[in-house]
Amino acid sequence: MKEVETYPRLCVNLAAIRGNTSRVLGMCAERGIMVTAVTKSFCADLRIASAFLDSGITRLGDARTANLKKLTGFPCEKWLIRPPMPSEMEEAVRYCDVALHTEISSIRAAAAAARRIGKTHGVVLMMDLGDLREGFFQEEDLLLAAIETERTEGASLRGIGTNLTCMSFVQSTPENMGRLRRLAERVEDVVGHPLDYVSGGNSAALALMLQGGFPPGVNHLRLGGGLLFGKERAHYTFLSDTRNDAFILECELVEVREKPSLPIGEIGVDSYGRRPQFVDRGGCRLRAIAAVGKQDFDLETSTPLDPGVHLIGSSSDHTVLDVTDSDRKYAVGDIVQLRLGYFSLLRAATSPYVAKAYFDGQRNPHG
Ligand SMILES: *Cc1c(COP(=O)(O)O)cnc(C)c1O
Repeated sequence: MKEVETYPRLCVNLAAIRGNTSRVLGMCAERGIMVTAVTKSFCADLRIASAFLDSGITRLGDARTANLKKLTGFPCEKWLIRPPMPSEMEEAVRYCDVALHTEISSIRAAAAAARRIGKTHGVVLMMDLGDLREGFFQEEDLLLAAIETERTEGASLRGIGTNLTCMSFVQSTPENMGRLRRLAERVEDVVGHPLDYVSGGNSAALALMLQGGFPPGVNHLRLGGGLLFGKERAHYTFLSDTRNDAFILECELVEVREKPSLPIGEIGVDSYGRRPQFVDRGGCRLRAIAAVGKQDFDLETSTPLDPGVHLIGSSSDHTVLDVTDSDRKYAVGDIVQLRLGYFSLLRAATSPYVAKAYFDGQRNPHG
């Protein structure tokens, strides 16, 4: 008897995640780089987080305290990788060992919370090297924060770090990494002890690290996408001996019908105020509707596994596909598989409408 499945569903290949993680972790270890594995793109799903630990990861990080709370039972160091909200300080300090900080007032509040619960709160001070998201902008301000952290009971200065390529897409270079290293030396001078962590960035810094472009002293990365997809994010290339199919979204077709490729009527603007453009593929195409939408995935970062299927567009809960060029004859009730990238995974993992299925082998179902 055929099992009844729930769609859409996110198929997670744990073997692929373990393989990619060991591979990337090995490349980092060869170059003396420690790793915090970042769980935010999959809402800190416990099975995936376990796959990280099974692959040799000893530090987990997430931007959200609620996710770190889910990871409480995991025997590893926990990092909060977004500065804590003052309103969540007590919880944030409870569920993390180390947090990224950019405000002295927050460090004081975190230290006070740590003293109340008999804990030491690890502090990594973030320096903004030009991407213009989080971080101190003046080195002197970071140095003052380092001295203040050092003096504050309940807080312990564990390191400094930077984040690039998330807001303005500024790339990591030997120059900005050199600046981070020199800043770390100045901090070590003023506080009088070595830092555990000089954290050079996220998966976008992998390319530079692999080219040997990190100066000695930069010894840590915070990696999410790089481990899950085996991909660096500066040039978006897949790393050797990794797999790109750890996350497949399966969605079910609810309509299959011949229609023209160009809409009929006067075209207005979309919900972003943009006028949509259409590609003329001819007057008669076989179009299908999958029961999945913007709430569950992101069309721009998804790729159909069937090369004859083209993603045309999606609204909140419908996705239109052109299946004319496929060798397969699609019908209502058929399943279409999409290979997910980072933002698609983020939405699929977050959507309450997407079921999850875990696989632990070479292949995904229907593969
Ligand atoms: C999200 C995030 C990361 C991980 O980013 P990836 O591109 O998934 O490696 C690292 N550091 C910070 C501060 C982040 O916000």
